Amino acid sequence: MKPPYRDCIELRQAIIDACLEMNAAGINQGTSGNISVRTGDHMLITPSGVPYGKMAPEDLVLVPLDGSPAPEGQLKPSTEWPFHLAILQAKPGVHAVIHAHPVYCSALAMNRQAIPACHYMVAAFGGNDVPVADYALFGSLDLSNNIVHALHNRSACLMANHGALTTGDSLSRALWRMVELETLSKGYVTSLTVGKPHILSEDEITEVVTAFSEYGLKDSR
Ligand SMILES: [Zn+2]
Repeated sequence: MKPPYRDCIELRQAIIDACLEMNAAGINQGTSGNISVRTGDHMLITPSGVPYGKMAPEDLVLVPLDGSPAPEGQLKPSTEWPFHLAILQAKPGVHAVIHAHPVYCSALAMNRQAIPACHYMVAAFGGNDVPVADYALFGSLDLSNNIVHALHNRSACLMANHGALTTGDSLSRALWRMVELETLSKGYVTSLTVGKPHILSEDEITEVVTAFSEYGLKDSR
């Protein structure tokens, strides 16, 4: 499906399918991951505490992007809905936000260690690193602000002592990025155990960012 999205059963099912893909890829742990998608002036977000395998299209929660309360009669949105809302408000080009606690991303996040330009794929996230958003309590306004700050000119960040977040100009792009981010994190962590990774120069990464943009990979700013 291509954005702009509208709330319909196919979109709701696509979000559930993306959740199940995260499980299959080993990206998600339990019910800790969550996904939101922009649907006009609302976001459609996964509910709180429902295992992906049991999630039905009607369980997804529609939340107004202007910050007004969600319509009644729905399940509770993910407890992490505030930062989904903040990102979609701050970045009009973003149509999907994915958050999870993948093991290697989380290991780096526990060390508050950004991913440097140790591999050319770092450019798929917008520049020469994947930064770490400062720590704040989950669901808090401070955490939302910290993440929006970290996402300046980036389409992904780690979250200190917490996990990872990716954005996309489509749901499939955001999901692709989360899988790539965990792969990059795994490679970086492994490289640290066998030696000292060589870091690509600013020019080398700029060259990759330019090449990616020619493939339509520049988005979500
Ligand atoms: Zn989380």
